[in-house]
Amino acid sequence: MIKVVDLHKSFGKLEVLKGITTMIKQGEVVAIIGPSGSGKSTFLRCLNLLEEPTSGKIWIGDQEITNPKTNIMKVRQNVGMVFQHFHLFPHMTVLENLTYAPMKVKGMTKVDAEAKGLELLQKVGLAEKANEYPNRLSGGQKQRVAIARALAMSPDVMLFDEPTSALDPEMVKEVLEVMKSLAHTGMTMAIVTHEMGFAREVADRVLFLDGGQLVEDAPPSEFFSAPKSKRAQEFLEKML
Ligand code: ADP
Ligand code: MG
Repeated sequence: MIKVVDLHKSFGKLEVLKGITTMIKQGEVVAIIGPSGSGKSTFLRCLNLLEEPTSGKIWIGDQEITNPKTNIMKVRQNVGMVFQHFHLFPHMTVLENLTYAPMKVKGMTKVDAEAKGLELLQKVGLAEKANEYPNRLSGGQKQRVAIARALAMSPDVMLFDEPTSALDPEMVKEVLEVMKSLAHTGMTMAIVTHEMGFAREVADRVLFLDGGQLVEDAPPSEFFSAPKSKRAQEFLEKML
């Protein structure tokens, strides 16, 4: 579903991604972990062209998104993203947050978009909040709305950038539960996270980034019990 070949990204003189090559299969759940500043967010943002790669190639499905002829808006419709800080539209109700893009971008009718929006709200356990404004929701609820909003576009791939890092501890679980059930539907997911328990339980693979390089790529059972590199060993020691 996703193929990345020799991806480089620099900001001015700062080389942040130093040649990343990997693949994510359809239905696979990949946890991306690594120290702060290692390039995790930049990597994720390259996958939906929120950042323009400096060089290298990325395919989503059979489309090479790094080809200059690619329609960036189409790519983003197909790749849902959830951020640390939710980014909900504050002046719209929860349901309007979910129906806006499908109507505007996909030309869905209001009736269809609302039906789909309500179905998704039910899935994330927030049907009763449909007409509420975001500022009346808890952090965990906001993030579940953000996930539902991304799903409303029927993406093939979902990217998550530290979706629980801004949440109070008691709200982390409800968001991870929603992500876990999404994983069980067969959604292809790439998740930057510091939730090692979640990564171990839900991910099919762990990508460990350090200094802009993909240092390890292994199933969680291997990665967490026997990390190969010294850098991953040291990182895990600090996390535990
Ligand atoms: P991580 O998500 O692993 O913490 P990031 O991908 O956010 O790492 O950042 C990696 C490096 O790139 C950091 O040194 C950061 O300061 C730098 N960086 C990220 N985005 C930009 C940007 N838009 N302009 C300049 N430097 C950036
Ligand atoms: Mg980051």
